[in-house]
Amino acid sequence: MLLCKFKVGEESFFGIAEGDIIKAISGSFFDKELIVTNRSYNSNQIRLLPPCRPSKIVAVGLNYTDHAHELKMDLPKEPLIFIKPSTAVIGHGESIVYPKGVERLDYEAELGIVIKKRAKGVTIGAAKDYILGYTCLNDVTARDIQKRDGQWTRAKSFDTFCPIGPFIAKDIDVRNLDIQLFLNNELKQPSNTKNMIFAPENLVSFISNICTLLPGDVIATGTPSGVGPMKPKDKVEVRIENIGSLINRVEEKRP
Ligand code: MG
Repeated sequence: MLLCKFKVGEESFFGIAEGDIIKAISGSFFDKELIVTNRSYNSNQIRLLPPCRPSKIVAVGLNYTDHAHELKMDLPKEPLIFIKPSTAVIGHGESIVYPKGVERLDYEAELGIVIKKRAKGVTIGAAKDYILGYTCLNDVTARDIQKRDGQWTRAKSFDTFCPIGPFIAKDIDVRNLDIQLFLNNELKQPSNTKNMIFAPENLVSFISNICTLLPGDVIATGTPSGVGPMKPKDKVEVRIENIGSLINRVEEKRP
């Protein structure tokens, strides 16, 4: 099942996408029960919004064996995490703004985990119950600043640096899904979630034993090999099998 959030005129709804048809639900998909209303729309009548509004995005650095090999690094013994701010979130079709002063702006295709309910001190065995579903995410990074600062906060936190969506896929197995990044329709990151070092359940447990995760929070699970730079006017697409395709364009640096 694909969950989404969308706007029709000035009204916004939570919904379920079935092919080209989007059905509104009453309330939100964080409620216990999903109640489908009789309001349904064709996809060309609506505008997709980010599917959730996280209070924080907890991101994992180096979580794919192919990326570790590419960087000639040893596999990590525990997840290396950092936080992207909620204000970096944009939706499908919105523009990534190339910030003034940045020399190299990279894409990073990632599987996003969306948290269903308040999670604190969760075990690996119980983690599944705290996951609403999975989404596409682009962990946009100012690579030159990341190298210069050592700390990653500035490089990862500019406004528009966290495209997510457009859908949250519920009730799917994410252990063996193709994850790809296309830059101007050219495949740059071909990988599969089976190359992940720490599985989603392990990440939910590990992170929830550090900080409480809230409904709608997102865990960015790390990027595979093939990261690279984007330029203004580029079209960037994160595509994950059975989840969807997240497309954004890069906008000129602001004056
Ligand atoms: Mg990343």
